[in-house]
Amino acid sequence: MSNTLLVATRNAHKLDEIRDLLHDTAATVVSLDDVGVEPHPAEESVEIHDTFHGNALAKARYYRKLTGLATVADDSGLCVDALDGAPGVYSRRFAPPEFRGSRTEDAANNAWLLERLSRIRAEGRSAHYRCVLALVDDRRSLLVRGAVHGRISERESGTNGFGYDPLFLPDGEAQTFGQLPPEVKAARSHRADAIRRLRPWLS
Ligand code: IMP
Repeated sequence: MSNTLLVATRNAHKLDEIRDLLHDTAATVVSLDDVGVEPHPAEESVEIHDTFHGNALAKARYYRKLTGLATVADDSGLCVDALDGAPGVYSRRFAPPEFRGSRTEDAANNAWLLERLSRIRAEGRSAHYRCVLALVDDRRSLLVRGAVHGRISERESGTNGFGYDPLFLPDGEAQTFGQLPPEVKAARSHRADAIRRLRPWLS
């Protein structure tokens, strides 16, 4: 079991991306489902910090304690300059409940972001995604960071990826992560950047 690495997330998109990004390492990636860790109300009180690194570390420590496995947790989000870095660590629950209505979480967040930026022209719509990964095992707790810079489109385009991807235009691209082939996100994303920095610690 020494190469087993638990990727501790309830987000299936994050899990798929991290699995793909680690496919050529010695680590045997397992998910919470794989090891039988059912969702529990206590999880809600783990991700309560106001920093990406605080949340990533709290999640990794929590699931490491439950399973005894080397554990990686991801905390990530979108930081928009015109909104002073919001939604940032609160990206998952950006849209207020009264705005959300019957929309899915991602659809509501994207619609709310467009609304908040409706008066901002293209040149003022710069943003970046950030990802912090925490690795906790029997030897250490460590944090690595990743980022990708770009801007927020004026309309949603594409169905690839998840979350804000239909709105995020990475620098140098005329298409969103929602439109670009998944290989492009896998090479350029904040998560890919963080995984590159994690790799040396996985051997
Ligand atoms: P967390 O689960 O608290 O880390 O929240 C992550 C949230 O940030 C997601 O629900 C998305 O809204 C957003 N996010 C993080 N990474 C990505 C990404 O790769 N694409 C699109 N949205 C992302």
